Amino acid sequence: MKLPTYRNEAYFDYSTPDGQREWREALERAQATLGRSFPLIIGSGRVETSERIASHNPCRPSELVGWTAQAGPEHVEAALDAAWKAFESWRRTTVEERASILLHAAGLLRARKHDFNALLALEVGKNAVEAEAETSEAIDFLEYYARQALEWARPVAVTQLPGEEDWAVYEPLGVGVSISPWNFPLAIFLGQCMGPVAAGNTMIVKPSEDGGVVAALAVDLLLEAGLPDGVVNYLPGRGATTGELLVTNPRTRFVNFTGSKAVGLHINEAAARVQPGQRWIKRVTLELGGKDAMLVDETADLDAAADAAVAGAFGYNGQKCSALSRLIVVDEVHDALLAKVVERAGRLVVGEPGENANVTAVINQNSFNKAGAYLDLAPQEGRVVLGGGRAERPGYFVEPTIVDDVAPSARLAREEIFAPILSVIRVKDFEAGLSALNDSDYGLTGGVYSRDEERIERAIHEAQVGNLYLNRKITGAMVGAHPFGGYKLSGTDSKGGGPDYLGLFLQMKSIGRKR
Ligand code: NAD
Repeated sequence: MKLPTYRNEAYFDYSTPDGQREWREALERAQATLGRSFPLIIGSGRVETSERIASHNPCRPSELVGWTAQAGPEHVEAALDAAWKAFESWRRTTVEERASILLHAAGLLRARKHDFNALLALEVGKNAVEAEAETSEAIDFLEYYARQALEWARPVAVTQLPGEEDWAVYEPLGVGVSISPWNFPLAIFLGQCMGPVAAGNTMIVKPSEDGGVVAALAVDLLLEAGLPDGVVNYLPGRGATTGELLVTNPRTRFVNFTGSKAVGLHINEAAARVQPGQRWIKRVTLELGGKDAMLVDETADLDAAADAAVAGAFGYNGQKCSALSRLIVVDEVHDALLAKVVERAGRLVVGEPGENANVTAVINQNSFNKAGAYLDLAPQEGRVVLGGGRAERPGYFVEPTIVDDVAPSARLAREEIFAPILSVIRVKDFEAGLSALNDSDYGLTGGVYSRDEERIERAIHEAQVGNLYLNRKITGAMVGAHPFGGYKLSGTDSKGGGPDYLGLFLQMKSIGRKR
């Protein structure tokens, strides 16, 4: 099977008059579909449950986007039955067949991207630019993992012993559980499910409570693309109940998780305990939070750095795991850079995706309360130079906020916040800046703005982050170009959208045969 060279999906431009019309029409179409109820999908069956989960529009909390079913223990067992049954045939399909289904799904998603973008706006509050970036990333994952499956199926080079024929093959692990977050309910949801599927595994997917409608439609699309029943089983539910049951079940072979550090570390422990009847050590892949920093020194292009800081800190309201949270600035240029960042951030418009706002609502009441607590803390831990309040409109809106003179030891500088709140840390020189950048439990993304080649070299060798960005913004990783995943407590050192991702869901069988 020869495929065209992989390329990232081109973004649709919603800023033109035609693009604006397209966006309005897509939002209207999506609005007309709200309120549906999505059952579990187990094998070929659709299963309604007595308890359901409501998903609301964060910009209009009274607006119901839809309901998803809520899986209980009996559904977990049924889904495991269906997934293990499907594994028997799915593992024997040719890699070409599997890749073709992923490519077909990518084509369907491309054809429907406006509708998925609009639904992302309504369910998780993405504006057109952020929604388009997410849908394009989802397409990229499908295109990229289809090609990667073909790569992993190539013969493995092993040494030949005299008198023997020796070879090795990669085999899929079995049934995996994918547990995903709400902030990329399409791209991460599809990526962390379809990577393992491309490698020959079957999956049970538990989306976030706040992103289950987009996920349900994504599963429908996979089935329409020809994915056989039981290969992906849609099992929405609460994390602490459905999620926990899936992680601890002895028949679960591996867990692929993206979410917070606290939940990820708990899953790591829970999955490590071997349950009665369990015949393997569960493999766990974790992509966790960040406290991402960008260091700007006195040689940097300050206008470019200010643009990058604003995009990194306030894109999707600071709700990306890669979002800029700590802006570390060398004293000499601190005031000049801060003025530029405050000026640019002050121009951001807060509002709904339909109003083309730059900053929309944070995801839910809980997140809004948490952001509020950090806003209350801000004047104690620093100097609020922009924003600092909840925006004056219904919905979970938080003003873009910049807090200057935050100490590296402050809670604002250490805890993941997931809201449009940026802390600025002043350091005496580049050296101090690099140690401040590394002074974190997390190590997801990080960046350096400098024109000094020696310092850039030092950052390349010394920055303790999984994704380092030099003289560019620290968000917006592109599948294939920037394999994505963190160091330290940001994850298990795995990289989504990179060449070794599928290997996380494969095991090698080595065979030696006497001639
Ligand atoms: P979360 O940890 O609250 O929830 C993630 C998922 O875990 C949800 O589906 C939830 O239902 C489930 N869950 C909760 N408790 C569980 C349990 N006990 N057992 C099993 N499953 C359980 O995270 P969130 O609020 O949905 O997402 C935001 C977090 O995700 C942030 O910390 C962010 O940095 C992180 N994130 C990381 C990456 C990355 O690639 N590193 C990408 C996106 C988001």
